Amino acid sequence: MSQIVNKAEFQPAVPLFQSAQRVLLASHIRPDGDAIGSLVGMGLALQEAGKQVQMVLADGVPSKLRFLPGSEQVRTRVKDAFDLFCVLDCSDMERVGEIVPAGTVPDVNIDHHRTNLNFARLNLVDVQAVSTTELVYGLLQALGWEPSLDVYSALLTGLITDTIGFRTSNMTAAALRLAAELVDAGADLPGLYQKALGSRSFQAARFWGAGLSGLQLEDRLVWTTLTLADRQAANYNGRDDADLVNLLSSIENADIAIIFVEQPDGRVKVSWRAQPGFDVSELALKFGGGGHAAAAGADIKGSLEEVQGLILAATRPLLDNTQREDLISQERG
Ligand code: 5GP
Ligand code: MN
Repeated sequence: MSQIVNKAEFQPAVPLFQSAQRVLLASHIRPDGDAIGSLVGMGLALQEAGKQVQMVLADGVPSKLRFLPGSEQVRTRVKDAFDLFCVLDCSDMERVGEIVPAGTVPDVNIDHHRTNLNFARLNLVDVQAVSTTELVYGLLQALGWEPSLDVYSALLTGLITDTIGFRTSNMTAAALRLAAELVDAGADLPGLYQKALGSRSFQAARFWGAGLSGLQLEDRLVWTTLTLADRQAANYNGRDDADLVNLLSSIENADIAIIFVEQPDGRVKVSWRAQPGFDVSELALKFGGGGHAAAAGADIKGSLEEVQGLILAATRPLLDNTQREDLISQERG
């Protein structure tokens, strides 16, 4: 049995998952690899332990992540009764979408975002974890379960995608050890890496083209927009940015990258990416969103022009050097 995770932090959840018979698991809208990986990993492990499980994502599984065994079980609505409700990889309940009545308090919240609002009865929130799948692994260890290879593949996928291939500034030796352990258990690292990070559809690449053609750089801030018309022209079927923001964050001479993605409901999805020494999570939280210091997002009501103006004005002060030096010295302790 692994010694690489601290099992004590998961003990309060053990009796809940042991005694539950019908479990509802949910994660966030516009799901990414960690949302699907933690949902499917936890869901399959619970099924292997003899539980009835509903895995629900308001937006369903994006075609890019349908290769994961178990993802075909994910539904967009709650259909059956449940006696335990667990939310994964979400820092607030809005992030889940409208799958349960407003005001529903989940039993368990398993997450790694620093902006988590501790909205459940039991909150397993660990901001040191690089992915929610890292925490799911810890919980399965605390439960003493020996899950199947499909579970390990789902967990490794979350680890790979949330760290963009083990290279984000929050990477830890513990996460690398966990990845090694999952590979020892049979998970196909190069295969999962290639499917989750190393490939994209033709439509996604065309969508990127629209965003890249409008790219702007002003004082260490790089940004662009993706409109509904761009999405239609590229025939891209996701509501997200097809991960274009991660490419923007590789542009030299920019400390913060922002992408504005127009949504069909009169809203705009904003994504920030920041270099080490900057924290965009608090700003995202102020606009009703959340995230990590280096990667955060918010879903904001308004036209593209309104939201752009508001967000660019609110982000510029973060580039102030004095604030950056304070943060770097805090990080160095
Ligand atoms: P992205 O910008 O790629 O969607 O997300 C970056 C990070 O911010 C992720 O960790 C994601 O979970 C979080 N995030 C993105 N949008 C929202 C939002 O609308 N609400 C909250 N609470 N978190 C968000
Ligand atoms: Mn995550």
